[in-house]
Amino acid sequence: MKEIILLKDGEIALKGLNRSTFEDMLIKNIKERISSLGEFSYRKAQSTIVVTPENEDIDLDEAVSRIGKVFGTVGIARAAVCEKDIDIIRQTAYDYLKDDLMFAKTFKVTAKRADKNFPLKSPEICDEVGGYLLSKIRGLKVDVHNPEVTVAVEVRDNGVYIHGKQLPGAGGMPTGTAGRACLLISGGIDSPVAGYMIAKRGVRLTAVHFASPPYTSELAEMKVHELLGKVSMYSGRINLFTVPFTEIQEAIRDYCPEEMFTVTMRRIMMKLSSRIAEWQGAEALITGESLGQVASQTIHALKCTDECATLPVFRPCIGMDKNEIVIISRKIDTFDISIRPYEDCCTVFTPRHPRTRPTPKYAREVEAMIPDLDKMMDKAFEGAVLKIIEAYKS
Ligand code: ATP
Ligand code: MG
Repeated sequence: MKEIILLKDGEIALKGLNRSTFEDMLIKNIKERISSLGEFSYRKAQSTIVVTPENEDIDLDEAVSRIGKVFGTVGIARAAVCEKDIDIIRQTAYDYLKDDLMFAKTFKVTAKRADKNFPLKSPEICDEVGGYLLSKIRGLKVDVHNPEVTVAVEVRDNGVYIHGKQLPGAGGMPTGTAGRACLLISGGIDSPVAGYMIAKRGVRLTAVHFASPPYTSELAEMKVHELLGKVSMYSGRINLFTVPFTEIQEAIRDYCPEEMFTVTMRRIMMKLSSRIAEWQGAEALITGESLGQVASQTIHALKCTDECATLPVFRPCIGMDKNEIVIISRKIDTFDISIRPYEDCCTVFTPRHPRTRPTPKYAREVEAMIPDLDKMMDKAFEGAVLKIIEAYKS
């Protein structure tokens, strides 16, 4: 039996004249994700995108699982395809969905007749298919309000699609339709979630990670690669820049008051990230900050760091509780990686008593205590190493 994958557009459907651009981007993103599984063809039709496998041996379960993480769809269903003949439709519905129906008590049939030349109207299609299934499966009953299984029959121009349950899609807007932003990624729980949330709104990601070897280990960097690998299953390819940060951190330790270590470090991160972001054509920064979570994330500390960014800073986790962030990190499968215990540059030289109410004026004065900071920042910028992170790269 020939099977295809049906995708229901989400918010794209609201995009009026731009719709086609959004759908094209969605298809491009899906292609990127599944082309290593075999050959597929793509068709746009009435708020639906039809993905047809062109080889026999394609792993459709894997294709559905990958497409389920591509932003821009609200629903996904695998469907059987058959000819526009009611006897064949009835038989195909039975063959394709009998395993589900045998274990169900109730079902209903829905029909859509996009091809108005088909001789039966939608209610007649429902009667025909429903009646046939009732005659074949003992004990099955119709429940139009709350059925366990819904058999959907779509009569389209080029054939009939029959499917059972529709799985939820990834939601959001196709990545690449809303510009690019630069994610400051640590190895923690929050920043991968922040990247996922902004990518979901159609934004492509560049990432920046500050590493301070030998204080931070190679394992901490591996962790960041793995975290971004998970995020890229949703966002697509991510360009990661790893910035050498040791010299700057040591200078902060040597010249700044201890209570200002973290805020000063964060200010410099904002400056360097802005520079990388602008160089890469990104239009905003993203951080995983959450208000009040730690001393460097009070409203006063954020005021001190925000002024160092030359681009808008998106902080999608800002109003979320830790457990709300954890729920998302589990969903996107980053949690178990995030909790591995490797040192991050934020945990190196952590002040015992950080100042929770720093002022921007004082923060500027502290930063000015570091000799040759501009030169060190140039060096860090120039020493940034690019790695391209892409899930499912074949
Ligand atoms: P996370 O769970 O994302 O690490 P956190 O609550 O531990 O967040 P901090 O460690 O205070 O918070 O960091 C706040 C934000 O600063 C992070 O969410 C991230 O965006 C950025 N950040 C922290 N450390 C780094 C780093 N080494 N490289 C790049 N960005 C970083
Ligand atoms: Mg952290």
